[in-house]
Amino acid sequence: MAILVVGHKNPDTDTVASAIAVADLFTKRGQEAQAITQGPVAPETAFVLEKFGFAAPEIVTDATDKKIILVDHTDISQTIDNLDKGELVAVVDHHKLGDVTTPNPLEMWVWPVGCSGTVVKSMYDFYGVEIPANIAGVLLCAILSDTVMFKSVTCTPQDKAAVEALAKIAGVTDTMALGMEMFKVKSAVDGTPARDLVFRDYKDFDMSGKKVGIGQLEVVDLSMLDAHKEALQAEIEKVKAEGRHSVFLLLTDIMKEGTEMLIASDDPSVVEKSFGVATKGEPVWLDGVMSRKKQVVPSFEKGFKA
Ligand code: MN
Ligand code: MN
Repeated sequence: MAILVVGHKNPDTDTVASAIAVADLFTKRGQEAQAITQGPVAPETAFVLEKFGFAAPEIVTDATDKKIILVDHTDISQTIDNLDKGELVAVVDHHKLGDVTTPNPLEMWVWPVGCSGTVVKSMYDFYGVEIPANIAGVLLCAILSDTVMFKSVTCTPQDKAAVEALAKIAGVTDTMALGMEMFKVKSAVDGTPARDLVFRDYKDFDMSGKKVGIGQLEVVDLSMLDAHKEALQAEIEKVKAEGRHSVFLLLTDIMKEGTEMLIASDDPSVVEKSFGVATKGEPVWLDGVMSRKKQVVPSFEKGFKA
């Protein structure tokens, strides 16, 4: 009976890609293993699997009488049902240690890096097993996903080195372009009503007695919002008319590391007072501004006071 390799609930790309790779590695080491998931894969993962020619793994939710390898988690709350009625033989992870235990010794690879895929890459190297090109491809995507294309504070030099090596094996010449393609799938806005986009991540604030709404959409490439800007502008005008002094919508480009701000305000001069950028109400680009909490709100609080 094959060992089942499983990641956490609500599978992400790392959980699925690392399970596929670990199953391949254990099989090649002489212990037949099969990747499974606890539920259906997300659109980003479906994109990655299709790109490198994999079908989504079979869904299995019960570990009773099964040999199990866990990837990308060690928390009982995140793991397959009845893990204690199966046999845990290995763990590959990059999170804080959770609460699973075993009655027997096991193989454990838990490293403080940005992605389980980075650990799996090192396992292949350790055992001297060649990484197939298509598996290198999905591991590469897992690392780009977990580290938000190296921008996450969790990213380490090992993650970057792994991506570089995996890209060569997978024959991927432009990793950042692939990452962008993947994040575009993840942050797709097409088909979502403008009102839902405005309120996807939205908060009202009291700024010197004025009600001010600030929403934010984070995307990897602002151009993906081009077709939506007019509708978004019209929508924040409506939201403002519902009893606010101003509504701002932050369109944050995580690659360019800046924000285009759409403005609906009784007094657009507050934008210049806050950020030093003149506007009569047309959108402004705020270079280096990514955080509503740490950058935008404090600036507006000063600007509204002035
Ligand atoms: Mn994960
Ligand atoms: Mn992960």
